[in-house]
Amino acid sequence: MKYCSTRGQVHGLSFSAAVMMGLADDGGLLLPEDIPVLSKDELQKLRNLPYPELAFQIISKYATDIPVTDLKDIIDRSYASFDHPQITPVVKLDDLYILELFHGPTLAFKDVALQFLGNLFEYLLGNSGQQMNIIGATSGDTGSAAIYGVKGKQRINIFILHPKGKVSPIQKMQMTTITDANVFNIAVEGTFDDAQAIVKEIFGDLDYKNKHALGVVNSINCARLLAQVVYYFYAFSQVQKATGAKEVEFSVPTGNFGDIFAGYIARKMGLPIKKLILANNINNILSRFVTEGDYSAAEVHHSLSPSMDIQIASNFERYLFYLYDKDAYRLNAAMETFKLNGILPVSSEELTRTQQIFAAASINDEETLAAIGRFADKTGYILDPHTAIGVEVGQRVRSGDCPLICLATAHPAKFGETVKKATGLDPALPPAFQGIDKLEEKLVTLPAEIEAIKQYVDAHVLT
Ligand SMILES: *Cc1c(COP(=O)(O)O)cnc(C)c1O
Repeated sequence: MKYCSTRGQVHGLSFSAAVMMGLADDGGLLLPEDIPVLSKDELQKLRNLPYPELAFQIISKYATDIPVTDLKDIIDRSYASFDHPQITPVVKLDDLYILELFHGPTLAFKDVALQFLGNLFEYLLGNSGQQMNIIGATSGDTGSAAIYGVKGKQRINIFILHPKGKVSPIQKMQMTTITDANVFNIAVEGTFDDAQAIVKEIFGDLDYKNKHALGVVNSINCARLLAQVVYYFYAFSQVQKATGAKEVEFSVPTGNFGDIFAGYIARKMGLPIKKLILANNINNILSRFVTEGDYSAAEVHHSLSPSMDIQIASNFERYLFYLYDKDAYRLNAAMETFKLNGILPVSSEELTRTQQIFAAASINDEETLAAIGRFADKTGYILDPHTAIGVEVGQRVRSGDCPLICLATAHPAKFGETVKKATGLDPALPPAFQGIDKLEEKLVTLPAEIEAIKQYVDAHVLT
């Protein structure tokens, strides 16, 4: 399997090369050159596999340059860190299914991909003899999942900037109580936007980037995408076994279009998904695109579902690549227009094709709180605010003639304050995190100034 860029200047890359490149050198996003389509027989064979075995069957179609025994070992180690024997169990509640993606070490779905990516990086760097320094800014979830993905790994150091005092206490402790020598937490005296601007500026300095072999772990890495395709297959099998359904719908709370794009790939591979339901909070550029063909950027608003407070979804370019029939020329032109005018031109034919695959809606904070409360009253099950958006939107726009599977992207205890406001209940932390507030912390506090951050990084990078 070879990999190419959406912008057309990079192609023929091996899987390993694509993983190490991250963002394509031409500024585009990397994708497999072909998506393998599974026959009914092959789909049938995947039905009874345990999660790690299923993950191997799917990922090995894409990671063709990694010896199978090595790939198996990487996958087995990645999912051994989950606290549920099924890894991503499916629970039936009322008239829908919840796919619980929060049984990994940081209680959010990003673990599914980042546990795998961390092990993969270590393996590939070990083979090439290279080292890597990861730098990222986080508003909460990605930073902790990235830290847990690479903590204690050889040949990798990780620097995560978070806005001081502006991430939830549990999110902060999940990062700062990791005391491994290769993990560096930086509390920045500023906002998340300040921290992110600093990271962007650091990566814009190509000399600096190359000198320190800087890497990123955001959702543009194609290995993350592939790891996320697996749970769509897993959930379908579980629900098919329970109901005999021939097709299903998935509702996905969406920010960067990463999670739902994995569902799109699963559908392309032949998984019978009737519709993918895209659920947004008030930052609803993507749901406006699906419902009205209006892809125009607005300001980012803060919401009760902070991991979805995104306007320009980086993975959306991957969908456009297919919508434009892999025409990189067309894609470049569209991205240029969007950069200039803040609006993406969409034809009515393209809108129709999009609506054959996706349905969408967005809800605000008030509706999110109401959705958590209503679902708890009806079922006794507590949703986190991100998951609640998917459940509410899913119920509103589902077609109703096949099972609905809603992706649960975070454990409710991660957003305890919001859950308490909605239900009056304090969701309990899983045992592994009880007492986390008493553990030793490792972090430095720095001003929101690029020179201060660079100085600290210079003093602690692997060279
Ligand atoms: C990151 C995240 C999302 C959004 O996922 P995307 O892949 O960016 O669409 C939703 N919920 C939670 C809890 C997250 O951490």
